[in-house]
Amino acid sequence: MLFNKLLGWFSHDIAIDLGTANTIVMIKGHEILINEPSVVAVKVDKYKDDEILAVGREAKEMVGKTPDNIRAVRPMRDGVIADFNITEKMIRYFIEKAHKRKNFMRPRIMVCVPYGLTSVERKAVKESAMSAGAREVFLIEEPLAAAIGAGLPIQEPQGSLVVDIGGGTTEIGVLSLGGLVISRSIRTAGDKIDGAIIEYVRKKFNLLIGDRTAEEIKIDIGSAAPLDEILVKQVKGRDQISGLLSTIEITSEDIRDAIKDHIKEMGNALKSVLEVVPPDLAGDIVENGIVLTGGGALIRNLDKYFSEMVKLPVYVGDEPLLAVAKGTGKAMENMSVLEKIIANS
Ligand code: ADP
Ligand code: MG
Repeated sequence: MLFNKLLGWFSHDIAIDLGTANTIVMIKGHEILINEPSVVAVKVDKYKDDEILAVGREAKEMVGKTPDNIRAVRPMRDGVIADFNITEKMIRYFIEKAHKRKNFMRPRIMVCVPYGLTSVERKAVKESAMSAGAREVFLIEEPLAAAIGAGLPIQEPQGSLVVDIGGGTTEIGVLSLGGLVISRSIRTAGDKIDGAIIEYVRKKFNLLIGDRTAEEIKIDIGSAAPLDEILVKQVKGRDQISGLLSTIEITSEDIRDAIKDHIKEMGNALKSVLEVVPPDLAGDIVENGIVLTGGGALIRNLDKYFSEMVKLPVYVGDEPLLAVAKGTGKAMENMSVLEKIIANS
């Protein structure tokens, strides 16, 4: 493995963050080749195999706007593979698209997968990447890649704690000496928060909105702890009583109220991990604090909320949406060091 270390990251190496919401494909130098939603649009046919109509951004555009026989599927939605066939096609599509842009010779590929995947699911991901033309495939777990991407000193004999909040899962990892000491994954993350916004707007304003509008509201005015200035957003939807389209005004206070239970659940998961951190590592975490990655880290004042809850410093990592992809790329560069802990089965 010294061999790998000497060569570093081959020019034909690809890092893939196979996220529940977004898939990112990166090559050496952290150049992003693909950054698209992990969504597949499928035409359902009773009489033959489902046909794939679109993958990625194009498929996400179809969400909520499709006729009955077209479904937009997020095959990894809950951090498990809901449909092997569709997941495989999605992975192939992204790898082939990256290929077209760069004309790789059979690349080595490292894929970051959600922590909760079973060994059967891991095998399926590996085989999909192999059949899309990889020379070799390695897997790395999300909390580890997130920590590396956030620049935490994971190879030191020093504890670090990372919380990665994605679409389907929130993954918490305590790392030391290049490995995961404790990890936890819960299925409360961005999607559940969007769902809570839909419910709240329906109950309080009698207005029906879809997933995409809910996500937009979260991104534009969502917060975990009070903001200095209240934000307001105009929201369009269908009035539940009159059935007519209408526009209402929603404030950041409303949305904080809507999402507070889910935010608290994530905080409680963090607390439960802190409760079992070995005492020697706990001291490091007190000193170094907690880093947040993943798109959910961008919820306003989430760092502040967690910090008040666990009484420790909490920071949002640099470019949280890219942390896992960057970490996966860095892990490839340091494969010899990380060999022991990269899940290769
Ligand atoms: P995954 O790793 O599961 O694919 P990501 O790390 O890509 O997930 O994050 C996707 C989640 O982050 C989605 O739920 C999305 O709505 C949310 N998100 C993205 N940007 C923001 C933002 N600015 N504020 C709040 N949430 C955001
Ligand atoms: Mg992720």
